Amino acid sequence: MKYISTRGAAPVLSFEEAMLTGLARDGGLYLPETIPQMSHGDIAALAGQSYEEVAFRVMRPFIGDAFTDDEFHEIIARAYAGFAHDARAPLVQLGPNHHLLELFHGPTLAFKDFAMQLIGQLFEAALKRSGKRVCIVGATSGDTGSAAIGAFRGLEAVDVFILYPHGRVSEVQRRQMSTPTEANVHALAIDGYFDDAQARVKDMFNHFEFRDAVGLAGVNSINWARVLAQVVYYFYAATALGAPHRKVSFTVPTGNFGDIFAGYIAKRMGLPIDRLVVATNQNDILHRCLTQAEYTPNGVKPSISPSMDIGVSSNFERALFEAYGRDGRAIAQLMDELKEGGFTVSQGAMQALREAFDSGRVSEEETSATITRTFAQTGELLCPHSAIGVQVAEAHLTPGVPMITLATAHPAKFPATVEAASGQHPPLPSHMADLYERPERITRIANDLGAIETLITERTTS
Ligand SMILES: *Cc1c(COP(=O)(O)O)cnc(C)c1O
Repeated sequence: MKYISTRGAAPVLSFEEAMLTGLARDGGLYLPETIPQMSHGDIAALAGQSYEEVAFRVMRPFIGDAFTDDEFHEIIARAYAGFAHDARAPLVQLGPNHHLLELFHGPTLAFKDFAMQLIGQLFEAALKRSGKRVCIVGATSGDTGSAAIGAFRGLEAVDVFILYPHGRVSEVQRRQMSTPTEANVHALAIDGYFDDAQARVKDMFNHFEFRDAVGLAGVNSINWARVLAQVVYYFYAATALGAPHRKVSFTVPTGNFGDIFAGYIAKRMGLPIDRLVVATNQNDILHRCLTQAEYTPNGVKPSISPSMDIGVSSNFERALFEAYGRDGRAIAQLMDELKEGGFTVSQGAMQALREAFDSGRVSEEETSATITRTFAQTGELLCPHSAIGVQVAEAHLTPGVPMITLATAHPAKFPATVEAASGQHPPLPSHMADLYERPERITRIANDLGAIETLITERTTS
């Protein structure tokens, strides 16, 4: 299996190379050269299997000869062993035709654990074999950093440095980054905003001497291996509700478009998905694009669903690549126009996007009202991101087609918003009930590239 770039001008890579590289050298994102197909019979045979077995069968065709079957089985088993629910991704019924897929039973209580836990094990297996070490550096506004630290803690071939804006992540998120005791994970509180943290990470990747000296690697949401890990739960949930013998639809709270793009891949592999619905908060560039054909960033307005606060949506480039008939040159040109302020999607590409995706936008007031209403009607406490999904899904219900809304984070990760809307304080699950008592380990650091690089160099070479 070979991987090609959405901008058509980077080397073709194997799965392992694409995973370790992340971003392509032409600035594009990697995608498989062809999308593997699963037959009606293959899909029917997934019903009733464990999450791990579904994961193996769905992902196996994408990894080529990177790992043997035994190695890959073992990698998957280790990735999901730390989840607090035996089903890994349980379904809860919200209404006659509406189901919630709870993706928050992983170690850091958000769906990002599904991809990050797997990528941690994939990195470790690939690096041990080659005798190499890498240094993972990332910026976070909360969930990605905690998921990365949760996934890479204690691994032998990897050091992890996560930059987060000092004083600007929730207490649960900060504690998930600062309380792991393993020596290879480092939470760095930078004096500044998330954009400062992200800019310093980009600076480090562009500083080639430093990059090579410490073996810098990235695991942000454009990494293909992360998208692939998320394809699995679409098959798992759909077959639990009767696919492939009937169609199902999904609604996905969306920011960088990684999670919903995984659903699109599942559909292209043969899973009978009727509608894929993009749910956004007030940062609605995706909803505006899908309804008006204009992709124009207009800044980020902080919301009560902070993990969806994005100005541009990095994985949307993959959807555009498909909608433009895999024309890398056209995508490179659109991305140049984006730097100048935005672009208009062509008529043909819009038709392809509309065939694949519906969308909806939810205000702050509606988000809170959905938490209130859903708790009153079903007893389910939603995090604000999941509430956005539920609100949009309710507007897209179709008789006879089960709707599955992805619940992307545990309500206890956003206790203030959930309590204000529902009157209920969402308790932490038992496996992390003592989070507030554990000692913290944080390095405060100036928003200064030299200081950050010196610290990383000292800690990785000693
Ligand atoms: C990351 C995140 C999202 C958005 O997912 P994308 O793949 O970026 O679209 C939604 N909800 C929560 C809780 C998240 O952490």
